[in-house]
Amino acid sequence: MEMARRAAEYRAAGRRIIDLTLGEPDFAPPAHAVAAAQQAAVRPMVYTPANGIPELRRAARRALQRDRALRYSDAEVAVGCGAKQVIFNAFFATLRRGDEVIIPAPYWASYPDMVRLCGAVPVIVPCSAESGFRLSPDALEAAVTERTRWVVLNAPRNPSGATYSHDALAGLAEVLRCHPSALILSDEIYAHIRYHAKDYNSIAQVAPDLRERILLVDGVSKAYAMTGWRVGWGFGPTELIRGITAVQTHNCTQTSAVSQIAAVVALQGPQDLLAERRETYRRRRDAGLAILKRSRHLDTVEPDGAFYLFPRLAVGADVAVADALLEAGCATVPGSAFGAPGHLRLSFATDIATLEEGCRIIVATLDGISA
Ligand code: PMP
Repeated sequence: MEMARRAAEYRAAGRRIIDLTLGEPDFAPPAHAVAAAQQAAVRPMVYTPANGIPELRRAARRALQRDRALRYSDAEVAVGCGAKQVIFNAFFATLRRGDEVIIPAPYWASYPDMVRLCGAVPVIVPCSAESGFRLSPDALEAAVTERTRWVVLNAPRNPSGATYSHDALAGLAEVLRCHPSALILSDEIYAHIRYHAKDYNSIAQVAPDLRERILLVDGVSKAYAMTGWRVGWGFGPTELIRGITAVQTHNCTQTSAVSQIAAVVALQGPQDLLAERRETYRRRRDAGLAILKRSRHLDTVEPDGAFYLFPRLAVGADVAVADALLEAGCATVPGSAFGAPGHLRLSFATDIATLEEGCRIIVATLDGISA
């Protein structure tokens, strides 16, 4: 957010800045979803149930069954203001002071701060580039204590783009079986943006016996380019869903009724756009990687999903390098923001020409720093 703000400031001052900081799709929302929202907005819009309108809960359940072959009942789903609020509500409903939450790094910056806001303790487990930024069963086992309340899994991951294979998830599940008091967050907000069909398996698919401990979170933000509409949902055991809904009731009642109606239509309408956009992201990923690979100062793991490149820097400290890049005309986010100093995050949720220009600036600037 800070880098995007500085990029906007430089632009306002008349400088040309390539902005690779953005964590949101650059596509338009599906036209049929927008049309449904327009029609809905002229009708009286009253409070909806805190856990979402029944049509949306049903549409989300059906989409999960269609895409990931997982079945949930109506009492096992709650809608909130984006995946973010569902996760926060779940933490708030379950965490007590001093509880621990295992968060593999690099991580989405909100997880540790949400945990702290709930009075609990984030336990960061670094995952190296050599491991493909994946949490290993051994690292998980070493981090679990009797105070562990949640283990956070996110795939495809922000910012590294890593996904887990079936076997990798089965390995984690084996460890989790030995620690029955830990709940498991499976943040699947990037589920539709992954580049190898075989790769993505939700831990809920791989370990059905753990189902009563898993909160599976998804939403319309990334898949349907509807970040600002604020619609996300979580599937989980009834008691947890009740807790999430109770917190929701007392903070913002529900997410926008108009947005919920648009989300139903996005989920039920034609789905071809998901594959088309994935292919567009893939072309961008490959174009950006091709340029970054030319630099001997960068080591970039090919992301399996999401829309970020996460190169490791062989020269300079990430915050200083990000500053130098901004001066040179390209805004990026230093890896420190994600618990992984020494890296940069570049978003390829932008057109190829812009991305290529940004990557060229990065390569040239690093040559300059090392000279
Ligand atoms: N999880 C991850 C890993 C994310 O990157 C984001 C958005 N940046 C979210 C959750 C939040 O998504 P939403 O817009 O649905 O709140």
